[in-house]
Amino acid sequence: MSSSPPSRLPDPDKLDMLRRLDQFREWHSLDDKRFCLVCGKIIVGGQIQINGGTRGNGPLRLSCPTERCNSIPMDWVLPTDELVALATTTTSEDHNGASSKIADRDEEQGGLASRLRKFALHLKLAS
Ligand SMILES: [Zn+2]
Repeated sequence: MSSSPPSRLPDPDKLDMLRRLDQFREWHSLDDKRFCLVCGKIIVGGQIQINGGTRGNGPLRLSCPTERCNSIPMDWVLPTDELVALATTTTSEDHNGASSKIADRDEEQGGLASRLRKFALHLKLAS
């Protein structure tokens, strides 16, 4: 009931939390960028929200700073130049088209991002 603000962690601690809670990617600094596959935005480590754990109701988890985006760290891939270009030039109207373009890019690169994305999709389809 009190209006206590959400606990704010000092930056080094936050970076440590990112590293502990996001085991899919390495975090070198809070300036590291990720591309959120769910909301299609570039997010920065320092913006990522850390939720849970404060009232003993479950483990800490990371969440995307974008409102209504319920992605998990698995959905965050390292932004390639192509992703950055798409994220900054794409309008919300052709979001679906952009997503498929991103998918093609990932397939071409065949990197870890692609495998993570497939894994994430698989989880979503299975749930
Ligand atoms: Zn997001």
